[in-house]
Amino acid sequence: MNVISLTRDLIKFNTINPPGNEEEVARYVGAILADHGFDVDYPKYSEGRLNVVATKGLSGQVAPIVLTGHLDVVPLGAKEWKTDPFEGKVFDGKLFGRGSSDMKGGIAAMMMAAIQCFNNDPPKGGVKLIFTADEELGCNGARHLRGSGYDIGSASAMLVGEPTSNAPLIGHKGGLYINAKTTGVTAHSSMPELGDNAIYKAARAINSIEKLKFDVSEDNLLGFPTINVGTVKGGLNLNSVPDKAEFTIDVRSTPKLDNAMAFAILDKTLGPEVDLVKMVDLDAIATAENHSFVKLVAQVCNVDFNAAEIQKAASYLTDASVLTPWLNNVPTIILGPGEAHMAHQTDEFCYVHKLEEAVEIYKKIIQENGK
Ligand SMILES: [Zn+2]
Repeated sequence: MNVISLTRDLIKFNTINPPGNEEEVARYVGAILADHGFDVDYPKYSEGRLNVVATKGLSGQVAPIVLTGHLDVVPLGAKEWKTDPFEGKVFDGKLFGRGSSDMKGGIAAMMMAAIQCFNNDPPKGGVKLIFTADEELGCNGARHLRGSGYDIGSASAMLVGEPTSNAPLIGHKGGLYINAKTTGVTAHSSMPELGDNAIYKAARAINSIEKLKFDVSEDNLLGFPTINVGTVKGGLNLNSVPDKAEFTIDVRSTPKLDNAMAFAILDKTLGPEVDLVKMVDLDAIATAENHSFVKLVAQVCNVDFNAAEIQKAASYLTDASVLTPWLNNVPTIILGPGEAHMAHQTDEFCYVHKLEEAVEIYKKIIQENGK
Protein backbone atom coordinates (compact mmCIF):
# COMPACT_ATOMS: atom_id res chain seq x y z
CA MET A 1 0.00 0.00 0.00
CA ASN A 2 1.23 3.49 -0.87
CA VAL A 3 -0.48 6.86 -1.09
CA ILE A 4 -1.22 6.43 -4.82
CA SER A 5 -2.80 2.99 -4.52
CA LEU A 6 -4.72 4.07 -1.42
CA THR A 7 -6.09 7.19 -3.13
CA ARG A 8 -7.20 5.03 -6.06
CA ASP A 9 -8.87 2.58 -3.68
CA LEU A 10 -10.80 5.37 -1.97
CA ILE A 11 -11.91 6.89 -5.30
CA LYS A 12 -13.45 3.52 -6.27
CA PHE A 13 -16.08 3.95 -3.56
CA ASN A 14 -18.87 6.08 -4.97
CA THR A 15 -19.56 8.63 -2.21
CA ILE A 16 -21.31 11.25 -4.32
CA ASN A 17 -23.36 13.39 -1.99
CA PRO A 18 -26.31 13.19 -2.06
CA PRO A 19 -26.77 10.43 -1.00
CA GLY A 20 -23.14 10.01 0.20
CA ASN A 21 -23.24 6.35 1.23
CA GLU A 22 -20.00 6.81 3.15
CA GLU A 23 -20.39 3.65 5.27
CA GLU A 24 -18.39 1.32 3.01
CA VAL A 25 -15.46 3.65 2.53
CA ALA A 26 -15.54 4.48 6.24
CA ARG A 27 -15.26 0.80 7.13
CA TYR A 28 -12.50 0.32 4.55
CA VAL A 29 -10.48 3.24 5.94
CA GLY A 30 -11.14 2.11 9.52
CA ALA A 31 -10.04 -1.48 8.82
CA ILE A 32 -6.70 -0.31 7.41
CA LEU A 33 -6.10 1.90 10.42
CA ALA A 34 -7.13 -0.86 12.85
CA ASP A 35 -4.63 -3.16 11.11
CA HIS A 36 -1.96 -0.62 11.99
CA GLY A 37 -2.82 -0.42 15.65
CA PHE A 38 -5.35 2.42 15.69
CA ASP A 39 -8.44 2.39 17.90
CA VAL A 40 -11.26 3.01 15.48
CA ASP A 41 -14.71 4.32 16.19
CA TYR A 42 -17.57 4.68 13.67
CA PRO A 43 -19.99 7.27 15.03
CA LYS A 44 -23.16 6.89 12.98
CA TYR A 45 -24.38 9.90 11.03
CA SER A 46 -27.45 8.36 9.40
CA GLU A 47 -28.50 5.15 7.63
CA GLY A 48 -25.56 3.99 5.48
CA ARG A 49 -23.44 6.94 6.57
CA LEU A 50 -20.65 6.91 9.15
CA ASN A 51 -17.98 9.24 10.47
CA VAL A 52 -14.65 7.70 11.43
CA VAL A 53 -12.57 8.64 14.48
CA ALA A 54 -9.25 6.78 14.82
CA THR A 55 -6.59 7.30 17.46
CA LYS A 56 -3.16 5.92 18.22
CA GLY A 57 -0.55 6.62 20.86
CA LEU A 58 -2.68 8.91 23.05
CA SER A 59 -0.67 9.81 26.15
CA GLY A 60 -3.26 11.37 28.39
CA GLN A 61 -0.82 14.16 29.28
CA VAL A 62 -0.07 15.70 25.89
CA ALA A 63 -3.02 16.37 23.58
CA PRO A 64 -2.80 14.67 20.17
CA ILE A 65 -2.56 16.33 16.79
CA VAL A 66 -5.78 16.00 14.79
CA LEU A 67 -5.86 15.36 11.05
CA THR A 68 -9.26 15.70 9.43
CA GLY A 69 -10.99 15.31 6.10
CA HIS A 70 -14.32 14.38 4.54
CA LEU A 71 -15.29 11.14 2.82
CA ASP A 72 -18.05 12.44 0.53
CA VAL A 73 -17.59 13.94 -2.93
CA VAL A 74 -19.71 16.18 -5.14
CA PRO A 75 -21.75 14.98 -8.17
CA LEU A 76 -20.05 14.49 -11.53
CA GLY A 77 -21.74 17.32 -13.41
CA ALA A 78 -23.38 17.16 -16.82
CA LYS A 79 -20.23 17.12 -18.95
CA GLU A 80 -18.79 13.72 -19.83
CA TRP A 81 -15.47 12.74 -18.21
CA LYS A 82 -12.46 11.68 -20.31
CA THR A 83 -11.71 8.89 -17.81
CA ASP A 84 -13.89 6.80 -15.54
CA PRO A 85 -14.36 9.07 -12.50
CA PHE A 86 -14.26 6.06 -10.16
CA GLU A 87 -11.19 4.36 -11.60
CA GLY A 88 -8.37 6.60 -10.44
CA LYS A 89 -6.39 6.35 -13.66
CA VAL A 90 -2.83 7.69 -13.51
CA PHE A 91 -1.15 9.37 -16.47
CA ASP A 92 0.98 12.48 -17.15
CA GLY A 93 1.86 12.54 -13.46
CA LYS A 94 -1.77 13.05 -12.50
CA LEU A 95 -4.27 10.83 -10.74
CA PHE A 96 -7.76 11.36 -12.18
CA GLY A 97 -11.07 10.74 -10.43
CA ARG A 98 -13.90 12.32 -8.48
CA GLY A 99 -12.45 13.20 -5.11
CA SER A 100 -8.80 12.93 -6.17
CA SER A 101 -8.25 16.57 -5.15
CA ASP A 102 -11.32 17.11 -2.96
CA MET A 103 -10.32 15.18 -0.94
CA LYS A 104 -9.65 11.47 -1.01
CA GLY A 105 -6.03 12.18 -1.94
CA GLY A 106 -5.77 14.22 1.26
CA ILE A 107 -7.38 11.43 3.31
CA ALA A 108 -4.97 8.86 1.84
CA ALA A 109 -1.94 11.06 2.57
CA MET A 110 -3.14 11.66 6.13
CA MET A 111 -3.61 7.93 6.68
CA MET A 112 -0.16 7.05 5.30
CA ALA A 113 1.51 9.75 7.42
CA ALA A 114 -0.42 8.74 10.55
CA ILE A 115 0.58 5.11 10.05
CA GLN A 116 4.22 5.77 9.19
CA CYS A 117 4.92 8.35 11.91
CA PHE A 118 4.91 5.55 14.50
CA ASN A 119 7.71 3.64 12.75
CA ASN A 120 10.39 5.59 14.58
CA ASP A 121 10.25 8.45 17.06
CA PRO A 122 6.46 8.24 17.66
CA PRO A 123 4.70 11.58 18.31
CA LYS A 124 4.38 12.48 21.98
CA GLY A 125 0.65 13.06 22.26
CA GLY A 126 -0.34 10.58 19.57
CA VAL A 127 -2.54 11.13 16.53
CA LYS A 128 -6.28 11.46 16.07
CA LEU A 129 -7.91 11.16 12.65
CA ILE A 130 -11.43 12.51 12.15
CA PHE A 131 -12.99 11.63 8.79
CA THR A 132 -16.50 12.92 8.27
CA ALA A 133 -19.56 12.14 6.18
CA ASP A 134 -21.72 14.79 4.50
CA GLU A 135 -19.31 17.72 4.47
CA GLU A 136 -20.11 19.07 1.03
CA LEU A 137 -23.66 20.16 1.84
CA GLY A 138 -22.71 22.18 4.92
CA CYS A 139 -20.46 20.17 7.26
CA ASN A 140 -23.45 18.14 8.40
CA GLY A 141 -21.49 15.04 9.43
CA ALA A 142 -19.22 17.06 11.69
CA ARG A 143 -22.14 19.05 13.08
CA HIS A 144 -24.06 15.86 13.81
CA LEU A 145 -21.03 14.38 15.58
CA ARG A 146 -20.71 17.45 17.75
CA GLY A 147 -24.43 17.61 18.43
CA SER A 148 -24.55 13.94 19.43
CA GLY A 149 -22.49 14.61 22.55
CA TYR A 150 -19.56 12.56 21.26
CA ASP A 151 -16.43 12.88 23.40
CA ILE A 152 -13.96 14.36 20.91
CA GLY A 153 -11.24 14.84 23.55
CA SER A 154 -8.63 17.55 23.20
CA ALA A 155 -6.15 18.47 20.50
CA SER A 156 -2.83 20.30 20.34
CA ALA A 157 -3.21 21.33 16.70
CA MET A 158 -5.30 20.43 13.67
CA LEU A 159 -4.67 19.94 9.97
CA VAL A 160 -7.56 20.00 7.50
CA GLY A 161 -6.61 18.12 4.33
CA GLU A 162 -8.68 20.14 1.83
CA PRO A 163 -6.94 20.97 -1.46
CA THR A 164 -4.24 23.64 -1.13
CA SER A 165 -1.46 22.26 -3.40
CA ASN A 166 0.48 21.56 -0.19
CA ALA A 167 0.63 25.27 0.72
CA PRO A 168 -0.65 26.01 4.23
CA LEU A 169 -3.64 28.33 4.70
CA ILE A 170 -4.50 29.64 8.15
CA GLY A 171 -8.19 30.36 7.88
CA HIS A 172 -11.32 30.97 5.86
CA LYS A 173 -14.42 33.09 6.05
CA GLY A 174 -17.56 31.74 7.65
CA GLY A 175 -20.78 31.05 5.79
CA LEU A 176 -24.28 31.99 6.88
CA TYR A 177 -26.91 30.86 4.40
CA ILE A 178 -30.41 32.09 5.08
CA ASN A 179 -33.79 31.41 3.55
CA ALA A 180 -35.95 34.53 3.74
CA LYS A 181 -39.73 34.44 3.35
CA THR A 182 -42.42 37.05 3.03
CA THR A 183 -46.14 36.43 3.16
CA GLY A 184 -49.16 38.46 2.10
CA VAL A 185 -52.77 38.09 1.05
CA THR A 186 -53.79 37.00 -2.42
CA ALA A 187 -56.42 38.80 -4.54
CA HIS A 188 -57.29 39.33 -8.20
CA SER A 189 -54.67 41.51 -9.86
CA SER A 190 -57.37 43.90 -11.07
CA MET A 191 -58.11 44.72 -7.42
CA PRO A 192 -54.67 44.80 -5.81
CA GLU A 193 -56.01 46.98 -3.00
CA LEU A 194 -57.79 43.88 -1.65
CA GLY A 195 -54.51 41.96 -1.34
CA ASP A 196 -51.13 42.31 0.32
CA ASN A 197 -48.26 41.79 -2.12
CA ALA A 198 -45.53 39.46 -0.78
CA ILE A 199 -43.22 40.22 -3.72
CA TYR A 200 -43.19 43.94 -2.87
CA LYS A 201 -42.13 43.03 0.66
CA ALA A 202 -39.37 40.79 -0.66
CA ALA A 203 -38.27 43.50 -3.09
CA ARG A 204 -38.05 46.08 -0.29
CA ALA A 205 -36.02 43.63 1.77
CA ILE A 206 -33.65 42.83 -1.10
CA ASN A 207 -33.20 46.54 -1.75
CA SER A 208 -32.18 47.15 1.83
CA ILE A 209 -29.76 44.22 1.69
CA GLU A 210 -28.11 45.75 -1.36
CA LYS A 211 -27.60 48.99 0.58
CA LEU A 212 -26.53 47.26 3.78
CA LYS A 213 -22.99 48.02 4.91
CA PHE A 214 -21.76 45.98 7.84
CA ASP A 215 -20.14 48.50 10.16
CA VAL A 216 -17.09 46.43 11.11
CA SER A 217 -13.35 46.78 10.63
CA GLU A 218 -11.31 44.81 8.16
CA ASP A 219 -9.96 41.50 9.44
CA ASN A 220 -6.20 41.16 8.93
CA LEU A 221 -6.53 37.72 7.41
CA LEU A 222 -10.03 37.60 5.93
CA GLY A 223 -10.82 41.17 4.94
CA PHE A 224 -14.40 42.48 5.04
CA PRO A 225 -17.56 40.38 5.32
CA THR A 226 -19.75 40.15 2.22
CA ILE A 227 -23.44 39.63 1.55
CA ASN A 228 -25.30 38.45 -1.54
CA VAL A 229 -28.86 37.56 -2.52
CA GLY A 230 -28.57 34.50 -4.75
CA THR A 231 -32.09 33.33 -5.58
CA VAL A 232 -35.57 34.77 -5.55
CA LYS A 233 -38.92 33.11 -6.07
CA GLY A 234 -42.45 34.43 -5.77
CA GLY A 235 -45.95 34.44 -7.12
CA LEU A 236 -47.92 31.76 -8.94
CA ASN A 237 -49.65 33.51 -11.81
CA LEU A 238 -49.59 36.78 -13.67
CA ASN A 239 -53.03 38.01 -12.65
CA SER A 240 -52.93 37.46 -8.90
CA VAL A 241 -51.51 39.40 -5.99
CA PRO A 242 -48.81 37.02 -4.68
CA ASP A 243 -49.19 35.88 -1.08
CA LYS A 244 -45.74 34.26 -0.87
CA ALA A 245 -42.19 35.10 -1.90
CA GLU A 246 -38.81 33.87 -0.83
CA PHE A 247 -35.16 34.54 -1.46
CA THR A 248 -31.81 33.35 -0.19
CA ILE A 249 -29.05 35.34 1.48
CA ASP A 250 -25.39 34.30 1.66
CA VAL A 251 -23.20 36.10 4.20
CA ARG A 252 -19.45 35.43 4.30
CA SER A 253 -18.40 36.35 7.79
CA THR A 254 -15.12 37.15 9.56
CA PRO A 255 -14.04 37.15 13.23
CA LYS A 256 -14.97 40.86 13.23
CA LEU A 257 -18.55 39.99 12.28
CA ASP A 258 -19.48 36.48 13.30
CA ASN A 259 -22.61 34.74 12.10
CA ALA A 260 -24.65 35.57 15.18
CA MET A 261 -23.88 39.28 14.77
CA ALA A 262 -24.64 39.13 11.04
CA PHE A 263 -27.97 37.42 11.68
CA ALA A 264 -28.96 39.95 14.34
CA ILE A 265 -28.16 42.85 11.99
CA LEU A 266 -30.18 41.30 9.17
CA ASP A 267 -33.09 40.52 11.45
CA LYS A 268 -33.16 44.13 12.64
CA THR A 269 -32.69 45.61 9.15
CA LEU A 270 -35.42 43.54 7.50
CA GLY A 271 -37.86 43.69 10.39
CA PRO A 272 -40.91 41.54 11.14
CA GLU A 273 -42.04 41.60 7.49
CA VAL A 274 -39.37 39.03 6.62
CA ASP A 275 -39.06 35.60 8.20
CA LEU A 276 -35.43 34.40 8.32
CA VAL A 277 -34.41 30.74 8.65
CA LYS A 278 -30.76 29.71 8.88
CA MET A 279 -29.83 26.89 6.49
CA VAL A 280 -26.06 26.79 7.02
CA ASP A 281 -24.33 28.46 9.93
CA LEU A 282 -20.54 28.02 9.93
CA ASP A 283 -18.25 30.56 11.54
CA ALA A 284 -14.95 31.85 10.19
CA ILE A 285 -11.61 30.25 11.05
CA ALA A 286 -8.50 32.33 11.68
CA THR A 287 -5.33 31.04 13.30
CA ALA A 288 -2.83 33.65 14.50
CA GLU A 289 0.06 33.99 12.11
CA ASN A 290 2.57 34.09 14.96
CA HIS A 291 1.35 30.87 16.58
CA SER A 292 4.16 28.34 17.00
CA PHE A 293 2.18 25.71 15.06
CA VAL A 294 1.84 28.08 12.10
CA LYS A 295 5.57 28.74 12.22
CA LEU A 296 6.30 25.02 12.30
CA VAL A 297 4.04 24.27 9.33
CA ALA A 298 5.37 27.22 7.33
CA GLN A 299 8.89 25.96 7.90
CA VAL A 300 8.05 22.36 6.93
CA CYS A 301 6.24 23.58 3.79
CA ASN A 302 8.97 26.09 3.03
CA VAL A 303 6.52 28.98 2.92
CA ASP A 304 7.22 32.57 3.94
CA PHE A 305 4.03 34.17 5.26
CA ASN A 306 5.70 37.58 5.11
CA ALA A 307 6.13 37.37 1.35
CA ALA A 308 3.96 39.83 -0.55
CA GLU A 309 0.93 38.45 -2.42
CA ILE A 310 1.02 35.12 -0.62
CA GLN A 311 -2.38 33.48 -0.21
CA LYS A 312 -3.14 32.91 3.47
CA ALA A 313 -6.83 32.04 3.53
CA ALA A 314 -8.92 29.44 1.73
CA SER A 315 -11.77 30.57 -0.50
CA TYR A 316 -14.03 27.75 0.68
CA LEU A 317 -15.58 26.55 3.94
CA THR A 318 -14.32 23.50 5.81
CA ASP A 319 -15.27 21.23 8.72
CA ALA A 320 -12.92 23.39 10.81
CA SER A 321 -15.87 25.75 11.35
CA VAL A 322 -17.34 22.97 13.48
CA LEU A 323 -14.26 21.15 14.77
CA THR A 324 -12.01 24.08 15.71
CA PRO A 325 -14.39 25.70 18.23
CA TRP A 326 -15.33 22.22 19.48
CA LEU A 327 -11.64 21.52 20.12
CA ASN A 328 -11.30 24.67 22.19
CA ASN A 329 -10.18 26.83 19.24
CA VAL A 330 -7.23 24.59 18.49
CA PRO A 331 -4.68 26.16 16.06
CA THR A 332 -5.93 25.05 12.66
CA ILE A 333 -4.24 24.90 9.28
CA ILE A 334 -5.75 23.88 5.96
CA LEU A 335 -3.18 21.89 4.04
CA GLY A 336 -3.70 19.19 1.45
CA PRO A 337 -2.22 17.75 -1.76
CA GLY A 338 -5.20 18.48 -4.01
CA GLU A 339 -5.58 21.37 -6.44
CA ALA A 340 -8.24 23.79 -5.22
CA HIS A 341 -9.14 24.79 -8.81
CA MET A 342 -9.82 21.11 -9.58
CA ALA A 343 -12.35 20.70 -6.78
CA HIS A 344 -15.86 19.95 -8.10
CA GLN A 345 -14.59 20.00 -11.73
CA THR A 346 -15.01 17.56 -14.60
CA ASP A 347 -11.83 15.45 -15.03
CA GLU A 348 -10.74 16.28 -11.47
CA PHE A 349 -7.15 15.26 -10.81
CA CYS A 350 -4.43 15.44 -8.19
CA TYR A 351 -0.69 15.54 -8.98
CA VAL A 352 0.96 12.26 -8.01
CA HIS A 353 4.09 13.99 -6.70
CA LYS A 354 1.97 16.20 -4.45
CA LEU A 355 0.34 13.14 -2.90
CA GLU A 356 3.78 11.75 -2.09
CA GLU A 357 4.99 15.14 -0.88
CA ALA A 358 1.93 15.51 1.38
CA VAL A 359 2.74 12.26 3.20
CA GLU A 360 6.22 13.58 4.02
CA ILE A 361 4.90 17.02 5.03
CA TYR A 362 2.22 15.57 7.32
CA LYS A 363 4.71 13.16 8.85
CA LYS A 364 7.18 15.94 9.63
CA ILE A 365 4.48 18.14 11.13
CA ILE A 366 3.16 15.29 13.30
CA GLN A 367 6.63 14.47 14.54
CA GLU A 368 7.80 18.04 15.18
CA ASN A 369 4.53 19.26 16.73
CA GLY A 370 4.97 19.99 20.44
CA LYS A 371 8.72 19.35 20.45
ZN1 LIG B 1 -13.66 19.32 0.29
